[in-house]
Amino acid sequence: MRSLDVDQWREEIEKMGEKSFRAMQIFEWVHKKQVESFEEMTSVSKTLREKLKEKYEWFPLKAIFVMKSQIDGTKKYVWELADGHFIESVWMKYHYGNSVCISSQVGCRMGCTFCASTLDGLGRSLTASEMLGQVYTMAKMNGERVSNVVVMGMGEPLDNYNELVHFIRLLSHEKGNHLSQRNITVSTCGIVPKIYELAEEGFQITLAISLHAPNDEKRKKLMPIGEKYSIKELLLACNYYFKKTGRRLTFEYSLIEGFNDRQEDARQLSELLKNLCCHVNLIPINPIKEGGFVESRKKDILNFQNSLEKNSINVTIRREIGRDIQASCGQLRRHVNQSPMHKERERNDAPC
Ligand code: SAH
Repeated sequence: MRSLDVDQWREEIEKMGEKSFRAMQIFEWVHKKQVESFEEMTSVSKTLREKLKEKYEWFPLKAIFVMKSQIDGTKKYVWELADGHFIESVWMKYHYGNSVCISSQVGCRMGCTFCASTLDGLGRSLTASEMLGQVYTMAKMNGERVSNVVVMGMGEPLDNYNELVHFIRLLSHEKGNHLSQRNITVSTCGIVPKIYELAEEGFQITLAISLHAPNDEKRKKLMPIGEKYSIKELLLACNYYFKKTGRRLTFEYSLIEGFNDRQEDARQLSELLKNLCCHVNLIPINPIKEGGFVESRKKDILNFQNSLEKNSINVTIRREIGRDIQASCGQLRRHVNQSPMHKERERNDAPC
């Protein structure tokens, strides 16, 4: 329902024999005022509201778990979708506003060895409506506007390309929520052909690349996608994206003790990135029990940062947020899926 754009609404409305200006009204109710039912659309006639109610379902996201960090107030949400799947989102408060991290798929099929989202494979991709639903519902629940959206939750957004692009168009639509595309970040493990495609969309979003290794040999050990596309191919696509959009790239680099956090790794990484307009985000790895990785020591993280800076690479260490509530991708959903509470719910919900 939230997936319909203005033109699609116009078609629908005309089919119902109503005046086409109603399409824009409805679009504004859904995306600007972000109502959650047709009853709330008070400028729309009662008869049309009834017709709409008969034809469309809202599929609201059901918050089944909300956890608030005692350290920094970050909130993590686990939602149940209409078909019973679970996804996660995160709400973060910064000095500049509220940033939300949303999921693009139920699970993931990329197989990165340190990531909890991929452990059970891919359930399904989310619709644009379900991605918007995460943003709008959190705004409503917190009673505040969202200023930044990062597609860095569960799933690989470029593995759900069409719905992602539709989501970005709707979220930034001037008659709707009108979020500046500069405040939207999409993070990818690096599906090279899709980066070229995204470069042609005319967006002003930030592209973040999960690099995590300074050479192909190490990257392949962490990320199966590294077997498909070399770092060289990936960086060529990144360079193209920058040339087309003028947007500085972000590279995410999770530091793993003794694996990719040494001075030689920093040197190789600087060499790779020296000619790109980019920013490196260092993330201390958040160990998952299935991964067997250990987080880098503080001193090594700082040395790594210094080394990149000396090579004139723009770098920051990502503020650790919500660690006490398992805020990394897919961690909490697994917890919910495996908890006795969920098992109990399943029993209660099962048809007899
Ligand atoms: N599939 C996308 C987006 C989801 S993950 C991607 O690969 O970019 C968002 C970021 O968190 C990615 O950089 C991912 O590699 C990283 N990440 C996932 N699990 C992590 C963990 N346990 N510790 C640190 N970073 C992690």
